[in-house]
Amino acid sequence: MTMRVAVVGGGMAGLAAAHELASSGVEVVLFEGSDRIGGKLRLGSVAGVTLDLGAESLLARRPEALDLIHEVRLDDKVVNPETISAAIWTHGGLRPMPPTVMGIPADVVALAESGIVEGALDPHVLPVPDGDVSVAEFVSARLGRDVLDRLVEPLLGGVYAGHAARLSLRATAPQVAALGADLLAGATEARAKATASGPVFAGLVGGVGQLPAAVASTGGIEVRLDATVRSVSRRPDGWRLAVGPTTDVDLCDVDAVVVAAPAPAAARLLAEAAPDAAFALAAIDYASMAIITYVFDEPPAFQGSGLLAPPVDGTFIKAATISSNKWRWVADTGRTVIRASVGRAGETTLLQHDDGDLSARALADLRSAFGALPDPLDSVVQRWGGALPQYDVGHLDRVDVIERSVAAVPGLEVCGAALRGVGIPAVIASGRAAARRLSDAGTLDA
Ligand SMILES: Cc1cc2nc3c(=O)[nH]c(=O)nc-3n(C[C@H](O)[C@H](O)[C@H](O)COP(=O)(O)OP(=O)(O)OC[C@H]3O[C@@H](n4cnc5c(N)ncnc54)[C@H](O)[C@@H]3O)c2cc1C
Repeated sequence: MTMRVAVVGGGMAGLAAAHELASSGVEVVLFEGSDRIGGKLRLGSVAGVTLDLGAESLLARRPEALDLIHEVRLDDKVVNPETISAAIWTHGGLRPMPPTVMGIPADVVALAESGIVEGALDPHVLPVPDGDVSVAEFVSARLGRDVLDRLVEPLLGGVYAGHAARLSLRATAPQVAALGADLLAGATEARAKATASGPVFAGLVGGVGQLPAAVASTGGIEVRLDATVRSVSRRPDGWRLAVGPTTDVDLCDVDAVVVAAPAPAAARLLAEAAPDAAFALAAIDYASMAIITYVFDEPPAFQGSGLLAPPVDGTFIKAATISSNKWRWVADTGRTVIRASVGRAGETTLLQHDDGDLSARALADLRSAFGALPDPLDSVVQRWGGALPQYDVGHLDRVDVIERSVAAVPGLEVCGAALRGVGIPAVIASGRAAARRLSDAGTLDA
C-alpha cells in the first residue's frame, strides 16, 4: 500500500518537503491556501518584463537551493550577480560598503575611507556570552553605536526586516558570535577565508520565482490550490485534515502531515496535536513589508548593486536593488529595473499608504539617493503581509520546544522559515529534513 502524506503550505519549505517525499515513492498532496504556489517567491510583469516580486537571490555558499535547482533541471539558468557592491545611504550620500561580516567591519581602513562611521572606532575585546543576547547589545558593547546603527542594523533589516535591539544574536547572526572576543580581528580573518571560496549569491535567468513551479512539476505531487487547511486532527490510523471554506469543508485522510505554513497558521493547526509547539509558534512575531519594482528607460548614474538605508536616518525605503546592474539577464531586457523595499517589524502604519503613495514616496527616496531618474514606465507594489518571522532573543529555545513537542507525535512534522533560518536554502533544508524524519521514523513504511 502506498502511503499518503499531506503537506500544508506551498512555499519553498513545503515544496521541498513534498519533493523529498515524492522522490521516495510516497503519494503527496500539497495544500496551498492561496491561488498559487511559491509563497514568498513570486514572478510578475512590470512594463512587460517578467521579474521577481519577492525573493530574488540565493545564498550560494549553502548547497541546498543549488542542489534542488539541479534536481529540477534548472542548472542551465543559474547565474551569479554582476556586482554585489552595495552602498550605505547615510550622511547625505551613497557610501561604498566596506568589507564586513554581517556588518562587522573586516577592513578598518576601508571603513574609515567610506565615511559611514564618524570618528575612530573604539573597539572593546569582550568574551562571547554563552547565552543569547540581542544583536544590538552584543555589537554596541564591542564596537559602538555607529557600527551597529549604520552597518549591522541595515544589513539585518535587509534580511529580517527586524530591529537589532530585538533580534537574537544566536539565531540571526551566529557568524558574528563565531568571530570571537575580538570582533575586528575575527571579521578580518573570516572575510579573507570567505573571499577565497567563490561567489556568495546566485540567481536564475528569468527569476528565482521559476523554482516553485519547477519543483511542483517534477512528478508525484498533487497540488491543490485555494485549499486552506483549517484543522489537523489525529485519527487512530493517521490524520484528518479539514480543508477549504468553513461552509464547504472537504475532509482528507492521510497517513502523515508536514505543516509548512507560517507560524500563526501552523500554531492554529498544531493546537490539538502538539499544544506546546502551537503555543511557542503563536509567540513568533512577523514583520510586514512591500517591494516596489520600477522599470525605467534610462540607467541611473550609480553602478553598484543597490543601497541599504540605516533606520536611524529615518528614510522611507530601507533598501533598494538596481536589478539591471545586479543581474545580466535583467540588463539584457534593455530596461533599468530598481526594486525598493519598505517596512520593518512594528511599522504598522507605513503599509497603510495606498499603492500610489507608497510608490511615489519610495521613488522620491530613490531620486535623493541615486540622483536624477526619469518617471518610471511602470511600477508594481507587491505587499508582503506577515513576510518575515522575527527571531527574538531566545528564539532557538523556542524552536527546541517546537521541535521536541512535534517529535513526540508520530506522523507529524513542521518546517519553514519560522524555525531555523529564513533564507531560501535554509527553508529548503528545513522542508527536506522534515520529510526525511518521517521516513526515518518508519511512519511511511507500508
Ligand atoms: C519580500 C521578500 C524578499 C525576500 N528575499 C529573499 C531573497 O532574495 N533570498 C532569500 O534567500 N530569501 C529571501 N526572502 C526570505 C524567503 O523568501 C522566505 O523566508 C521563504 O521563501 C519562506 O518559505 P516558507 O515555505 O517557509 O514560507 P512561505 O513562502 O511563507 O510559504 C508558506 C505558504 O503556506 C501557505 N499557507 C499558509 N497557511 C496555510 C493553510 N492554513 N493552508 C494551506 N496553505 C497555507 C501560504 O499561502 C504560503 O504560500 C525574502 C522574503 C520576502 C518576504
